[in-house]
Amino acid sequence: MIIVPEKDIAGLIDRAESFDAVEAVFAAMAAGDAYNFPVIREAIGHADALYGFKSGFDRKSLALGLKSGGYWPGNEARGLTNHQSTVVLFDADTGRVRALVGGNLLTALRTAAASAVSIKYLAPRGARVLGMIGAGHQSAFQMRAAADVGDFERVIGWNHNPERIGRLEETAAEIGLPFEQVPLERLGEEADVIISIASAFAPLLMDAHVKGPTHIACMGTDTSGKQEVEAALVARARLFTDEIAQSISIGECQHAIAEGLVSESDITEIGAVINGTRPGRTGDEITLFDGTGVGLQDLAVASRVVELAQAKGVAMEVDF
Ligand code: NAD
Repeated sequence: MIIVPEKDIAGLIDRAESFDAVEAVFAAMAAGDAYNFPVIREAIGHADALYGFKSGFDRKSLALGLKSGGYWPGNEARGLTNHQSTVVLFDADTGRVRALVGGNLLTALRTAAASAVSIKYLAPRGARVLGMIGAGHQSAFQMRAAADVGDFERVIGWNHNPERIGRLEETAAEIGLPFEQVPLERLGEEADVIISIASAFAPLLMDAHVKGPTHIACMGTDTSGKQEVEAALVARARLFTDEIAQSISIGECQHAIAEGLVSESDITEIGAVINGTRPGRTGDEITLFDGTGVGLQDLAVASRVVELAQAKGVAMEVDF
C-alpha cells in the first residue's frame, strides 16, 4: 500500500493537474463510464461535527475508493482546518487497498477545480469582474483557480463576517488584481462570474441582485438544508451540475426542486457540456453551476497524486 501524507500533497499536485483530473472525471461521469455511490453524511452529535463517506468507481481510469471525513467547525480555534478527510483507493481488479492519501488540500483543490471547469465552459464572453461570496478556507483556492481560467480585471467580495474579508483581499493581491468589499446588491449587479462558497442556511444572493449575463458557481451548498441563492434565481438560470442526484438532494437546486420551480430535467451535467453532447452557454443568459462535490473528484485527484508520487520516486510503500 502506498501512503501519501497530507504534508506531501502540496509538493506533488498543482492546480493545473487538479483541473485536468476533475474535468476528465466529469466527462467520464456524463459518458456513463464513472458513477458515484450514495453519499453518507451524518451529524454525529459530538464536536458539532458532520461526518461521512463519498465513494465511487471510474471504469475508465479504474479509480475505486472513498473519501471519509467531514466538517469540524471548532477546528480553526485549534489551528486545524475545519474540513478533515482522508482518501482510500482500492485496486479495482483485486479489491486490495492501494493507497491512503491525505484529503484536506485535495478537497480544496478539487472543489476549486470544479468551479473553474464550470467557468471555462459557462462564463459569459468577455467576463472581467469576479464576485466572491464567502471568505472562509475554501475561498482563496476558489479565487486562484478561477483566475487560472478567466481573464479577470478585478475582484469584488462579500462575507457574512465583514471583518474576515481580509482573506479575499490578500488572495486578490497575490493574483495581482484589485479588490473591493461590496454589498450583495452590487456584487450581483457588477460581477460577470460569481463564486458562492459560504456555509449558509438561508439565501444570500437574491434573484433581484443579478441582472445577467452572469455565471454563478454555487459551491458551498453540499448538505440538505444549506442554501446560498434564492430559489427564484435558480429557477431563472440555466442549470448545470456535477451530478444531478446530488444537486436535487444536497445541492443548491434542492430548494427550487422542493418549491416546484424546476424539475430534474432542467439540470444538465457539466460533463455533457465538456463532451459536447449538450450545449453550454448559448447567449446572455444566467448560468448556474451547482457544485455539490462528488466522491469521484476526490478519487481522481488522489489517483493523480499517487501516480505523481510514484513517478517522482517519493511514494512511501508499506506491506499491508
Ligand atoms: P469555513 O468554515 O472556513 O468558512 C465558512 C464561510 O461561511 C465563511 O465565509 C463564513 O463567513 C460563512 N458563513 C458562516 N455562517 C454564515 C451564515 N450564517 N451566512 C452566510 N455565510 C456564513 O468553511 P470553508 O472550508 O471555506 O467552506 C465553505 C463552505 O463550502 C462550507 O459550507 C463547506 O461545507 C462547503 N464546501 C463544499 C464543497 C463542495 O464540493 N461543494 C467542498 C468543500 C467545502
